[in-house]
Amino acid sequence: MDITTRLHLLELIRLGEAADAAHRSAGNAVRKATAERRRALAELRRRRRQLDDDAAERTDTERALRDAEDAVEQCERRRSAGAAKWQRTFTGTRRADARLGEQVACRAGRHGSAEPRRRAGRARLAADILGEFLAMPLELVETAHAILVQSSAGKDSVVMLHRVVQWAKAAGCLDKVVVVHADIGEEAEWPGVRELAQQQAERYGLRFVVVKADIGFLGMVERRGLWPDAQNRLCTSTLKRDEAAKFFTQIVDELGLSEQAVILNCLGIRAAESPSRRKKHELAIDHRASNGRRLVLTWHPVFHLSETEIWQEITDAALAYHPVYDTLIPRLSCIFCVLAGFDVLVRAVRLCWVLGLPTPQTYLDLESRIGHRFKDKFSLAEVVEEAARREQAEGPLIWRRGDAIRHYLGDDAATAYLTHLALAA
Ligand code: SF4
Repeated sequence: MDITTRLHLLELIRLGEAADAAHRSAGNAVRKATAERRRALAELRRRRRQLDDDAAERTDTERALRDAEDAVEQCERRRSAGAAKWQRTFTGTRRADARLGEQVACRAGRHGSAEPRRRAGRARLAADILGEFLAMPLELVETAHAILVQSSAGKDSVVMLHRVVQWAKAAGCLDKVVVVHADIGEEAEWPGVRELAQQQAERYGLRFVVVKADIGFLGMVERRGLWPDAQNRLCTSTLKRDEAAKFFTQIVDELGLSEQAVILNCLGIRAAESPSRRKKHELAIDHRASNGRRLVLTWHPVFHLSETEIWQEITDAALAYHPVYDTLIPRLSCIFCVLAGFDVLVRAVRLCWVLGLPTPQTYLDLESRIGHRFKDKFSLAEVVEEAARREQAEGPLIWRRGDAIRHYLGDDAATAYLTHLALAA
């Protein structure tokens, strides 16, 4: 199967999924309008009875009766519109299935079969095609019209960038690669993160773009009165994903193609990081971000690497990493991440004290203002208390450049890395 056919099938699969989603949503709308109509009719009946019983307050009751009649009428209209949409989307799902079925009837599920079976068929077909793409990364990067590398400047991002650059260079299309950094507000990030992301991009002469939401991390927490958590990671969706999606629109406009653009969106997440990440796919269609103008494929080029392998690649290629890692804080990005454990947060507070950053106090003030604990299990106030206790027992945090590599790969690797960097400077 050639590349064009594969892409065509992925687009048909995407259209099938979108048609099913629209059909489900129309069905939900009809059910909701039906329930509302039932409630409105009950209210109408109640008002009519009231009108009969309550001759003295007739004017008010008549007005309430008219309102109830209006409500029933509106529900009727919504229900009919929903039913018409349901029928249209039903036709849409069948048409999408038929188009896909013409190409690969047996694997995609038969026309007219039940939705779960059709979806399973599509998922199998998509997995086969995406698996074939993964086996030939050069063709994958060559096929894409734009390759976006979403970089936090962290260790996984820099290794991902390095890998993508090697493939793009080999395929002769380095000019398609753009590094995108989501700025989440400088009061929430470690100093130098944005500059490092830019420096990492400039190493390969790549275009570097910063996207930023109107409101930063702390502003978002203040507005909601709640910290995000693992179940409600609004920080990631609002400050990163939604902003990246706006850039998809911009890049498609810049490309100015007459055909659908294929965007390869690269993220530096790894399966070993958490059970929820393990469930993700190395390459997948981004149904939310794709549309008729663009087919967005999400690619996780370092998905199967362990932490040690990440540090090995950083050492081998002498990639620049942020000094925060040398204090053995395992992730970069936010100074206080809502997903971090207690000990890591304690370390982050102590590092802020060494660097003279006001962040712990800023977060403490916010926590007390909104009256919501930083995490379910503990407050940031408890973290700061523990940091003060350890500071008293052990003195200020100390570290040496290269400690992250020393920790994972030993002294010799750290020395080799630092020598390499010094020579490159
Ligand atoms: S680093 Fe943590 S707190 Fe910051 S945006 Fe990401 S998930 Fe949210």
